[in-house]
Amino acid sequence: MQQDTVLGHPKGLFVLFFAELWERFSYYGMRAILVLYLTAETTDLINPGLGWTSSEALSLYGTYGMMVYFMGIFGGAAADKWLGQKKAVIFGGLLIILGQFALTVDSLAMFYSGLVLLVCGVGLLKPNISTMVGGLYKKGDAKRDAGFTLFYIGINIGALAAPLLVGYFGEKVDWHLGFSLAGFGMIIGQLVFVFGGKHLKDVGNLLKQSPTEAHLATQPLTKLEKDRVIVLLISFLIVIVFWAAYEQAGGLMNLYARDSVDRFVFGYEIPTSWFQSLHAFYVVLIGAPMAWLWLKWGNMGKESSAVFKMAVGMIIMSVSFLALMGAVYDASINMIGKAPIYWLLFSYFLHVVAELSISPVALSFITKLAPAKYASLMMGTYFAITGLGNKAASMLGVFAQKSGEMVTFGIIALACLIVGILIFILVKKLKALTHGAEEVENPPMFVEPE
Ligand code: GLN
Repeated sequence: MQQDTVLGHPKGLFVLFFAELWERFSYYGMRAILVLYLTAETTDLINPGLGWTSSEALSLYGTYGMMVYFMGIFGGAAADKWLGQKKAVIFGGLLIILGQFALTVDSLAMFYSGLVLLVCGVGLLKPNISTMVGGLYKKGDAKRDAGFTLFYIGINIGALAAPLLVGYFGEKVDWHLGFSLAGFGMIIGQLVFVFGGKHLKDVGNLLKQSPTEAHLATQPLTKLEKDRVIVLLISFLIVIVFWAAYEQAGGLMNLYARDSVDRFVFGYEIPTSWFQSLHAFYVVLIGAPMAWLWLKWGNMGKESSAVFKMAVGMIIMSVSFLALMGAVYDASINMIGKAPIYWLLFSYFLHVVAELSISPVALSFITKLAPAKYASLMMGTYFAITGLGNKAASMLGVFAQKSGEMVTFGIIALACLIVGILIFILVKKLKALTHGAEEVENPPMFVEPE
């Protein structure tokens, strides 16, 4: 498979990069105004909302956040069995566009239909576009991980811009204008994907099977394949704990920032919602240097398997919650009773160092380990697991309302630490179970300049 390249990566990567950037713009843009729209007064003359209570709104938000990722299982299975990833992405993109525009209509029935369309659309699109990234790289290609990091940076450019643009126009002008902006974002993403299709000819197609292959596809998995699936499922356990901790950002850490952090900088009080862009901002800032650091680490002959990186990520995540405990302690002993802002900035930073050691690494890992006939299903299962993490995060947030921040942050720090240490201990065993799936044929230090 001869491919045109840009920056040493297949051109198709940049098609997927921009398509997913706009899909995430649409997703995070809508998410940024959903709760605000639901809770805005119906009597507001300028920009009326639906007048729900906060808990009603948060509960819908939590369910939506879980469902959207949970649907990935069906989206992945549909691609493996009937559609192939490319068609699943196009079909999913269309559903998302319809969903976003349904939200622009001022009717409750259209609002719910819009949400259902979005859940189905993202479920079809998100896992499959991610699997397609893996399909661009041959088995053993050392650039695969870097490709996923680039893709992840694209995701976060969309996630960074969306709350600012969709949030601004939705909140300040008209909610429905915000939703339609999210819809236009998705239209751009869809156009990029369709017109860039010529660079994606060889990826994302339904596996064409000869009668013998069709027969083989019905055979049970081999021992090697089973072992690899086991490693994936174990690594998914890490993922639940990680996302349960990470998603505190939108809930508990958000409330903590609002109520207990001194947000004044040079006399200006930073709005609480701005902290919501911090994750994406840090990813864009340190995504490339982090990928480079891991590569260099590997080139020095040190352990750099995916499970090892994930274990390191979990320990760093644990430290980020220790920092939050530091904030709570600091607030309890200082004069104004509020924590200095640097604790929060530091904790968010560590979140992202951990995220970059876990999230794009997991995506790449799945494309290396999943048996071809279940490639999309495994990816979909991964996203479903992140959905469970989201749900667990909100449950921890509720728990904190009774038990306090110190205890909750402490429990999260401990859970991350335990999982991290456990995986450290198991690294060798887990690696053996991958049966060399991570071996690269052309280690980066020997890659010839293009
Ligand atoms: N923030 C990343 C994205 O939006 C990862 C989300 C996830 O894996 N649940 O793609």
